[in-house]
Amino acid sequence: MRFHKAESAFFVFIAVVLAAGVLLLHAYQMLHGVAEATGAVQRAGLIGYMARLLFGAGVLLATALFFGMFFIYPLIRTQVREEGKLRAMTESLSARSQTLEYAALTDGLTGMQNRRFFDDALREYIEEFRKIDKPVGLMVLDLDHFKLVNDTHGHDVGDQVLKAVANCLKDMTRYHDVVARLGGEEFAIVTPNMDDEALTKLAERIRKAVSALTVTAGNVRIKVTTSVGLAVWDRRETAEELYRRADRQLYEAKRLGRNRICA
Ligand code: GH3
Ligand code: MG
Ligand code: MG
Repeated sequence: MRFHKAESAFFVFIAVVLAAGVLLLHAYQMLHGVAEATGAVQRAGLIGYMARLLFGAGVLLATALFFGMFFIYPLIRTQVREEGKLRAMTESLSARSQTLEYAALTDGLTGMQNRRFFDDALREYIEEFRKIDKPVGLMVLDLDHFKLVNDTHGHDVGDQVLKAVANCLKDMTRYHDVVARLGGEEFAIVTPNMDDEALTKLAERIRKAVSALTVTAGNVRIKVTTSVGLAVWDRRETAEELYRRADRQLYEAKRLGRNRICA
């Protein structure tokens, strides 16, 4: 059994009171012994007076002990119990809010970050990188003719393909890149500290990796491709403007025939 600080302090207090009581008792007995041995009238009167004083002090200590044991200690116990309950409640609430926050920022199907997380992250990266004057790259991807995958193989197989693409994107990126599913079959990657050339190379590697993916469902093998729009932050535009620019490039890639990158 573990004791609360207030309880431990209380036990120390009781121990001190008890020790004082033992000392008093000892002094009281000694005085009586001396009074009987001397027999001198005046001295006996003084000793008798001191004995009454000691007795009075003993009664006060006993009262303190009684009061402490039956009034103060139950109060401390109640308080400790209530404090424990409150702490447990706070802990469970904070665990719950962490779970809710995780759910609010995560895509349920792929486990990757969602649109809300992406919007915040892009804005924050731009604010921070404005201070240190470093580039921020943005890649927006949309799977090609994905409706056809669903229509041909069913929605569940479509989901399997989305998960496979999500894993591939996570594998191809660095720890501090933000990889998000913006919705449907559209993904985005924020690549801090990456210039045009590096971003184009990475996008090309990702495009190739997605087109090399094979998802097996029963005895059919499904392949997909992706179109990619790229933009590197021009150090003036807002996050929304940067996103719109990358999105325009994505549409250009679709218009030019899909399975390609446009910057
Ligand atoms: P495009 O090359 O022009 O992008 O053609 P597309 O067919 O990929 O584009 P479209 O916008 O016509 O269709 C997107 C499809 O993505 C339609 C919808 O059924 C599918 N989709 C969206 N969300 C999900 C999802 O969570 N799971 C599955 N399986 N399919 C989804
Ligand atoms: Mg599509
Ligand atoms: Mg789409």
